[in-house]
Amino acid sequence: MGGPELDALIQVFARLPGLGQRSARRIVLRLLQEPQTRMVPLARALAAAAQTVRHCSVCGNLDSQDPCSVCSDAERDRSIVCVVETVGDLWALERAQVHRGLYHVLGGTLSALSGTGPEDLNVSPLINRVLEGEVSEVILALSATVDGATTAHFLSDRLAPTGVRITRVAQGVPIGGALDVLDDGTLATALRARR
Ligand SMILES: [Zn+2]
Repeated sequence: MGGPELDALIQVFARLPGLGQRSARRIVLRLLQEPQTRMVPLARALAAAAQTVRHCSVCGNLDSQDPCSVCSDAERDRSIVCVVETVGDLWALERAQVHRGLYHVLGGTLSALSGTGPEDLNVSPLINRVLEGEVSEVILALSATVDGATTAHFLSDRLAPTGVRITRVAQGVPIGGALDVLDDGTLATALRARR
């Protein structure tokens, strides 16, 4: 119904996380009700983001500038690097406004099940950042899952020879919990209570 363009649009939305066919149809209908005020701005924003947003070459964050706005912020404490799994985790910590240092996005965790090894993650660039000498503390803010714990152990081993101080977020992160679903207060407690 409605032609191939409409159908293609619905399928694009239906593949997004948290949406299905039904929500996709509702979104498309809503957009088409007011094309000038809803659909055109969306199309422009998508095109602009697709053209400009890249992974930061230093930390892996997503931004339209490289190094990203966090890495280029002169106010931040460059001696503390907080290691997170995803850009979503980085954004969650930024929203909570508890970390004034820099970040490093790993891109996931080690996982025997899905076959993710150290070479699939952003590990070597982290070691190199520490070896450059400006970093005095690495905070491991990884999920409280078996894979998160395995990854934290692995990184601690790899970082140990550098002599950098290694801490891990403590209380507040529920077992099996992902960082970016935590409320800001819980996240703040977890970061302050690192050990
Ligand atoms: Zn960055």
